[in-house]
Amino acid sequence: MSFKQKDKQYIANTYGRFDLHLVSGKGSFVYDDEGKEYVDMATGIAVNTFGVADEAWTEAVTAQLAQIQHTSNLYYSTPCIRLAELLCLRTGAKKVFFGNSGAEANECAIKVARKWAQDTYGVGDYTIITLKNSFHGRTVTTLAATGQDVFHKDFNPFPQGFAYATANDLQSVEACFEQGKIAAVMMELVQGEGGVIALDKGFVLGVERLCREKGALLMIDEVQTGNGRCGNLYAFQGYGISPDVVSTAKGLGGGLPIGATMLFERVENTLTAGSHGSTFGGNPIAAAGAVSVIERIDEELLLGVREKSAYIFSELSGAEGIVSVSGLGLMIGVGTQKDVNEVLKACFEMGVLPIKAKNKLRLLPALNIPMSALKRAVAVIKAAAKGERI
Ligand SMILES: *Cc1c(COP(=O)(O)O)cnc(C)c1O
Repeated sequence: MSFKQKDKQYIANTYGRFDLHLVSGKGSFVYDDEGKEYVDMATGIAVNTFGVADEAWTEAVTAQLAQIQHTSNLYYSTPCIRLAELLCLRTGAKKVFFGNSGAEANECAIKVARKWAQDTYGVGDYTIITLKNSFHGRTVTTLAATGQDVFHKDFNPFPQGFAYATANDLQSVEACFEQGKIAAVMMELVQGEGGVIALDKGFVLGVERLCREKGALLMIDEVQTGNGRCGNLYAFQGYGISPDVVSTAKGLGGGLPIGATMLFERVENTLTAGSHGSTFGGNPIAAAGAVSVIERIDEELLLGVREKSAYIFSELSGAEGIVSVSGLGLMIGVGTQKDVNEVLKACFEMGVLPIKAKNKLRLLPALNIPMSALKRAVAVIKAAAKGERI
């Protein structure tokens, strides 16, 4: 049996895989099992923040691996403490809860909102407002939070306690507040899986104001937008808002699974001993990798992210065969006249790996992608959108 047949036979059918087997890489270049080179414009869905086999990251991870690989949360763990301190100092958060994924980071946020509302307003059933076209994860509760009907079938019953407003429509958020007993609004600042659509600044500021007026929490899902991806350490910093909870994951570990739920002043003491937990959460190896990632996301790197973003926008906007360019920083959606699968296939043939978001190409390169590699990728995407080969 070939490995492809074995994959089909033994792995649950949850993924529609591309016909590609990546086996190694260096920085922004990855190689398949035939040795073909690709410019990686996907980074494992915004995970490999500094690309593949990055030296500083590999060193940080292997040093921890040789010391102790796991201790459990029954004991102190210095990589975990260092990471929490860094995140708090650089965001203004007061405390951090560590899990292992984006969905878990959001589960924690949801629990915090519900408990905070009970602590503040009395025991009862509270609602969290999320946005239509959002994506918050694959667990049953984060699927319920996700504002896309396609996710709300097959797995009934879903937990109650979510109301769905329309992105960039403040009145629809206000209408949800009128239902009463609202604990929080939770939203992505750039809807990633929804098609890489950045929310309008006016809308985001309006939601913040509504949350303050109505006494609800503002919770930002930065699982994909965070960790330098959008040109600030966290995208909320670019929007100039002060959230109460920020969840993140994907790029935080630089390639290892870790999720973080950052708790700001209003909710810093909401979680108490025993109210939440995770066996693997804040694993020392993942945390050591994350420390090295966060330490390297400095102003110079972020300036580079913004410059590379501007380059992609200026090259692709209005180019032949391209109908839209959206997103923020190095999280970019590209709408094409041709069917996206056809464009994607052409990119693969020419040695460039974007992924998809809805019916768009999605670009998520490493934050330190060299300009020469980025130029090559952009030239290939332009050619593919026109139906040409280079
Ligand atoms: C990917 C993603 C999630 C889910 O993260 P997992 O690590 O797959 O659980 C949640 N929210 C957003 C915005 C995401 O992009």
